[in-house]
Amino acid sequence: MRSRDDWAAAASQLSVRTGLYIDGRYQSAHAGESFECVNPATGAVIAHMARGQAADVDAAVASGVAAWKDRRWRGLAPRARMDVLQRFADLVQQHSQELALLETLDMGKPFSDVLGIDIPEVLKTIRYFAECIDKIEGAVTHTDASALHLILHEPLGVVGAITPWNYPMLMAMWKVAPILAAGNCVVLKPAEQAPLSCTRLAQLFVEAGGPPGVFNLVNGFGPEAGQALALHPDVIKLSFTGSTAVGKLLLGYAGQSNMKRVALETGGKSPQIFLNDLYDLDAAVDRAVGGIYDNAGQVCNAGSRLLVQRDIHDEFVRRFIARSALAYRAGDPLDPATTLGPLVSHAHQRNVLARIARGISEGAQLAMGGGSVGPLPGGAFVEPTLFTGATAGMSICREEVFGPVTAVTAFDTEDEAIALANDSDYGLAAAVWTSDLKKAHHFVAHLEAGVVWVNSFGDGDMTQPFGGFKQSGNSRDKHMMSLLSYTQSKSAWFSLG
Ligand code: NAD
Repeated sequence: MRSRDDWAAAASQLSVRTGLYIDGRYQSAHAGESFECVNPATGAVIAHMARGQAADVDAAVASGVAAWKDRRWRGLAPRARMDVLQRFADLVQQHSQELALLETLDMGKPFSDVLGIDIPEVLKTIRYFAECIDKIEGAVTHTDASALHLILHEPLGVVGAITPWNYPMLMAMWKVAPILAAGNCVVLKPAEQAPLSCTRLAQLFVEAGGPPGVFNLVNGFGPEAGQALALHPDVIKLSFTGSTAVGKLLLGYAGQSNMKRVALETGGKSPQIFLNDLYDLDAAVDRAVGGIYDNAGQVCNAGSRLLVQRDIHDEFVRRFIARSALAYRAGDPLDPATTLGPLVSHAHQRNVLARIARGISEGAQLAMGGGSVGPLPGGAFVEPTLFTGATAGMSICREEVFGPVTAVTAFDTEDEAIALANDSDYGLAAAVWTSDLKKAHHFVAHLEAGVVWVNSFGDGDMTQPFGGFKQSGNSRDKHMMSLLSYTQSKSAWFSLG
């Protein structure tokens, strides 16, 4: 295995693309402005990225509209579009080390996680949707013999995608791959905290044979480039992953502009319920720990509420603390031994530490962690943190922290566990741990969440629709249903009379 120094040497050789990617080429921002890209592990500035604003979004959308109108993508045979997307996946695979280094430097995620988790998931996503292209089928409905009626699925047009920084490439590809597979053009606005990898992906699509103008990318800030995209009259649908607060703004922008469709994948406060009949406490604790501390807790479905039946509570907490101490080693994200990287930015570190302080002031007991750790001077690290004695009204049980912070609440009855789990504005995911199949079905039926795991947490594949109930969103990523959501039906009625 290569060492930290090998990867640091490779990172120093990287050529970082900083332009907007419009019409198949890198471009400076119209106003000539840029913003800093900072490595959160060290505080060092890695790059100055072109700062897209409304004029740049106009150019990117115009490029997409031109590609849409001349049918250079949607007019290709399904197999030809499939081949381009498969070659795109091949190029991502060939460039996986480069992309992983960009991601690690930019976002602070351990390099081994990017190579071992993010990149394989990105490849599965592109390949899954590529394979779906010629599986879209319309219908012939039963009509009187004097007519023939077809239901066709057609692409929408130019779709906007606005994505977050926690899995920069993967969250972008959960949007871009089905948007393109359905035959649309796309303008992607990645998160300003981690734009490097997506900036390279847009170019790889064109290198794979994707026509210029079909996949455009504009970096920049949310209230500038993001808002301009969301307000744009030629964008027919906006697909968003990010916070609930911004999701609500986007619904407003759609109403103020062209009533574009808005697909939202937003925040979460996912409960994991541990019943006293669960058959393997160590396995359950292991997934409780991984469910909140992997990716330093910067996961939309992170298991940030642990509801534990009272008679196993103390043993659960004891094993949770012991397991956490073994599982996570904070360090340089380029070091293959590092399992806990910094948070995405110093601003986010301050935000997470403030939420921990609020948990303490509201009366929860700090059972583990709570501070910043400093394996690297200047790094935005936060310790894995556990609160006990948390009650439903506390902010650590209600608000998304988006960091390595979880809270344990003890319960007595199953009805109480369901009530606690559902007492949230969010409904992204939930889990129940039990050895009783009947109880498991009861929980699945009563938990208000788009994804429910039984005796597991975070598992899934491309066949699993992913998205939330309530204020966790109104849409689904992954699965064929995501692909179909980037199409619209057309009814064609042929009179045979
Ligand atoms: P964020 O909402 O701050 O930003 C997300 C994106 O929206 C960024 O690209 C940002 O530039 C843009 N944006 C911000 N303000 C905007 C505006 N006024 N108009 C248009 N665009 C704007 O979220 P974040 O901090 O990047 O990501 C963390 C959030 O994402 C968490 O709430 C997390 O739960 C959520 N998330 C959800 C899922 C899911 O599948 N449900 C997956 C990953 C992350």
